[in-house]
Amino acid sequence: MSIIVTAFYKFVPLAKENLEVIQKDLMACGVSLEMGGLTILGAEGINGTVAGSAKAIDAWKKKIEELAGEVVFKDSESDSQPFKRWFVKIRKEIVSLGKPDVLPNGKHHHIPPEEWDRMIDEEDVVILDTRNTYETDIGVFEGALDPRLQSFQEFPEWVANCEIPKEKNVLMYCTGGIRCEKACLEMERQGYQNVYQLDGGILRYMKERPEGKWQGECFVFDHRVAVGKDLKPSQLYHLCPHCGDPGDVKTSCKYCGEMARICKRCKSNPNRESCSKNCAHHLDRVLQKSAV
Ligand SMILES: [Zn+2]
Ligand SMILES: [Zn+2]
Repeated sequence: MSIIVTAFYKFVPLAKENLEVIQKDLMACGVSLEMGGLTILGAEGINGTVAGSAKAIDAWKKKIEELAGEVVFKDSESDSQPFKRWFVKIRKEIVSLGKPDVLPNGKHHHIPPEEWDRMIDEEDVVILDTRNTYETDIGVFEGALDPRLQSFQEFPEWVANCEIPKEKNVLMYCTGGIRCEKACLEMERQGYQNVYQLDGGILRYMKERPEGKWQGECFVFDHRVAVGKDLKPSQLYHLCPHCGDPGDVKTSCKYCGEMARICKRCKSNPNRESCSKNCAHHLDRVLQKSAV
């Protein structure tokens, strides 16, 4: 059965004293609809990626719009439920920049995919990826600057040390748009005057411009690992059994012979040419013995 995965967020003030009530209500709603995924609530709004049957997702969208008003949902597909569990959590920030005082309003220098491509073609721009390395390693916009972040919280410091001129047109993007909401404001706070964000992120871009400027696949935070330009689950990547990064290196386990896909970094580590942490452990002992 085909499962719909939908990603959404909205910056909308939610009264702190109501958060626990909303949490319980959404939690119960997802349980009754047999959904999987994670939704984060905070005083600044709501952010989530959830999955379920088409019918369940329709009901969920109505529920979220009752709470938050109009919300943009970015759908993709999965062959099976890509989340093992269902959570609704309360956090200080719904996307963690480490600066709760940066408060987006959801309408700030957003540009739709078509305008994005036009600006890249016709204007002098820097394209900036605000995601982490395990994401940028498997797909980016052609020509994008990759800050090589290990986590989004490193972004403010990276901006402080980057050499992009302050008046330059900066076009930034992330998976579904939420990180750019804060990244954009943070760059402005540091003196950048012309920062734009890709509205709806890569997921919306792929939907509207499948033959556009995106190269590679888009990392997603569930068991599909990544989606291709058709927004269908990746055929290329599996989660590396050793480190959890996307892996596309086919290898036959040097311990048990099973086929596995591991990541490029682990490939260079002899005991990780294996299908699981367990086999890596055994292989390690075999290698140590043969070294003696
Ligand atoms: Zn790995
Ligand atoms: Zn094995």
